Amino acid sequence: MRCPFCGFNNSKVVDSRSKSNGKIIRRRRECLSCNKRFTTKEFIEETTLMVIKSDLRREVFNCKKLKQGIMRACAKRPISINQIDAMVEQIENTFKDKSVEEIPSKDIGLMVMKRLKELDHIAYVRFASVYRNFQDKEAFLAELQGLN
Ligand SMILES: [Zn+2]
Repeated sequence: MRCPFCGFNNSKVVDSRSKSNGKIIRRRRECLSCNKRFTTKEFIEETTLMVIKSDLRREVFNCKKLKQGIMRACAKRPISINQIDAMVEQIENTFKDKSVEEIPSKDIGLMVMKRLKELDHIAYVRFASVYRNFQDKEAFLAELQGLN
């Protein structure tokens, strides 16, 4: 952070305070060149990810909903909640890393399917059959055959 007084590029943090339930961090810094103090604020960048449905309607991405969908597919299968949480988190992070704002729902489904395929074939087939619609039946059957 560049010093607003002398433009020097290096400072040390002398005080750090969290505000608004930890959503803002206020740092008091001291310039290593002129020793003057200044304040910086750090925010968590909150972006809303939109999901594009097959009929092109948009819906706010909801990780709880995604988790529930995966949990339904994993019912009575040897997959832990931790594994499901990790999967949801990985998928969400993939979008954040790419800084996309909109994602087709089918891309999310494909990501889940790819991960379930590695974890548990029964859960994968369940998720895939709910996720894919009947128009897509042939593609689905082709995919099932690919499992053998
Ligand atoms: Zn300075």
